[in-house]
Amino acid sequence: MSIRIVRIHNELLGTYGDRGNADVLAFRAGLAGVKAHIVDVSYRDELPDDGDIYLLGGAEDAAQVLSCKALKGFDFTSRVVLAVCAGFQILGNSYFAGGVKQEGLGVIDMETIPGSSRFVGDIKIYSDVVNVELTGFENHGGQTNLAGGITPLGRVITGSGNGAGGVDGAVVGNVFGTYLHGPVLARNPEFADLLLERALGRELSRVNDPLADQYAAWRRAVIK
Ligand code: GLN
Repeated sequence: MSIRIVRIHNELLGTYGDRGNADVLAFRAGLAGVKAHIVDVSYRDELPDDGDIYLLGGAEDAAQVLSCKALKGFDFTSRVVLAVCAGFQILGNSYFAGGVKQEGLGVIDMETIPGSSRFVGDIKIYSDVVNVELTGFENHGGQTNLAGGITPLGRVITGSGNGAGGVDGAVVGNVFGTYLHGPVLARNPEFADLLLERALGRELSRVNDPLADQYAAWRRAVIK
């Protein structure tokens, strides 16, 4: 049993260190006895069709536009996807970059507009989807408005998240979006395991990584 983790356009979507999400998934898969391969895909290359988990990270506006253009036509809807910040925004119907409205990939029914100010700092949410508090660090100018009926990833306890509705992120099928950097999976191992379970189509045998659990608990306690 093995899984392929596709890290998309790290040269564009790597500004905020979200590349670490792939490493956490591979590490925890290994602890559960599942071999994992990380496949790095440049924006000049086609995305492989045979990935099990697809990862999009945060970026500055110009890089975000380039990445989005390169991804046009790829069908994310039926896949397991984790998209952070800029990666999350481009999955919507539209977003702004450099003050100009841009067409998104239309995977999640939502739009991102310029926020009243930049949202920067520690963030904590409670996620009914992952069933736990999630912590991270956010740094974005965009405010994301979910269409009615779109499930958020969680309810904001501290910070801004989407900047609207008191929520962060969105979940559609196996497509997960969030504003949490960290990398989010290093801060929240339960979220990593959920993505692995969705990719494998079965429950993961107990992953034993006490340091990751300690780190997650510490951040949850420190961010009030
Ligand atoms: N450029 C986007 C914004 O400022 C995304 C930033 C990010 O990915 N951290 O809203």
